[in-house]
Amino acid sequence: MTAGVVIVGGSVAGVHTARALRERGYTGRVRVVEAETEAPYDKPPLSKAALDGDPRVPLLTDEAATALGIDLILGRRVTELSTATSTLVLDDGSEWTYEQLVIATGAAARPAPWSCPGVHVLRTLADARALRAGLSEARELLVVGAGFIGAELASLARGCGIAVTMVDEAELPMARVAGAVLGARFAGLHREHAVDTRFGVRVGTLEHDGERVRAELSDGSVVHADIVAVGIGAVPDIGWLASAGLPVRNGLECDEFGRVRGHDRIHAVGDVACWHQPRSGTAARIEHWTNAIEQAVCVAHNIVHPDEPVPHDPVAYVWSDQYDWKIQLIGARDLTRDPQIIEQPEPFRMAALWSDEHGIVTGGVTVNWPRASVRMRKAVGRDIPAAEIGAQLTGVPA
Ligand SMILES: Cc1cc2nc3c(=O)[nH]c(=O)nc-3n(C[C@H](O)[C@H](O)[C@H](O)COP(=O)(O)OP(=O)(O)OC[C@H]3O[C@@H](n4cnc5c(N)ncnc54)[C@H](O)[C@@H]3O)c2cc1C
Repeated sequence: MTAGVVIVGGSVAGVHTARALRERGYTGRVRVVEAETEAPYDKPPLSKAALDGDPRVPLLTDEAATALGIDLILGRRVTELSTATSTLVLDDGSEWTYEQLVIATGAAARPAPWSCPGVHVLRTLADARALRAGLSEARELLVVGAGFIGAELASLARGCGIAVTMVDEAELPMARVAGAVLGARFAGLHREHAVDTRFGVRVGTLEHDGERVRAELSDGSVVHADIVAVGIGAVPDIGWLASAGLPVRNGLECDEFGRVRGHDRIHAVGDVACWHQPRSGTAARIEHWTNAIEQAVCVAHNIVHPDEPVPHDPVAYVWSDQYDWKIQLIGARDLTRDPQIIEQPEPFRMAALWSDEHGIVTGGVTVNWPRASVRMRKAVGRDIPAAEIGAQLTGVPA
């Protein structure tokens, strides 16, 4: 049997690459090797599924893998890559060769700066189960980091009546992705749900006194909590590639076809990959679910049709569920500019539209307004004035 395609990492990007290879008619061998022993599962439910339910949503069962002719190898970590011999070394000492390699090792939660009992990060199912077990006995939660994960966990905890204090060194939550005007609205959303928000301050020391956690903040105040959730970002999982000599700059540097620069038979997809973006002419590592899947499909096509490669030039998209707000972020937002806001009170929905210096729509954010989000996704990149979209949205239902 030929070496075929080896996919390192069996989560969102890796599993979708394997599936897309089969959907596009690839008949060679497909092997997916995944470090976790859990069968592949989806990540977004880990911070969204109800606390009393199971957050596990399967991505690929053993049966489905067998039916698709995908060799799914769980509980094995790839430790080394030799590009000279097209060989991977696994943590059991075995060596695999590949014809095509897809690197889909994603990212790991940025570690919490404090190691004491009660402190959690959230990236894996095991993290989610540990955090949920802790929350089931907690009365007070301290959330460090008011980004997507921190906000979703605060929302889940408040839904169960757990008191929440949220700390972020930024003055406003989500302002890094949605700007100050919307950041102020997100801050208001947390406060409306009785979250004790401490923005513009850092956690200095954090200790466990045997019963509870005590955190001292940079403004001198002290917060006590039963449990702490730290959501301060993720780092690409590339440590195992240290000796491989692949180009790294904020993840694995790839062209717009997903090929790692300088290596035609090595591709990278998902959170680990930093792809060239033809639309903006820049390189970006995008840590979002839709991007992982779109890149997987693109790379699968390019492996099956090497003579007709297609680039991936996305209109970026991400969603987040916070309290009763379904938030969707689309395209590019120049945060030095104020967006045009369209808002309707009953039932509440909101759209913020960003435009360039010529008034052309480049991206936006919607709240509880999926149809507005669809309109924006279609409009971005098509030279459509933001004012035109704004006028249309006024009549668009939720
Ligand atoms: C809690 C949470 C909530 C999220 N919510 C949203 C959301 O609402 N909307 C959104 O757009 N995005 C969301 N995301 C982001 C989205 O899930 C990621 O963009 C997506 O998981 C990226 O997929 P990936 O396969 O590239 O990486 P990962 O999901 O990180 O998977 C990489 C896999 O590679 C494996 N691996 C790593 N190193 C090795 C090795 N050396 N050998 C073998 N296997 C290895 C890991 O075990 C892991 O399973 C969320 C993420 C998290 C953690």
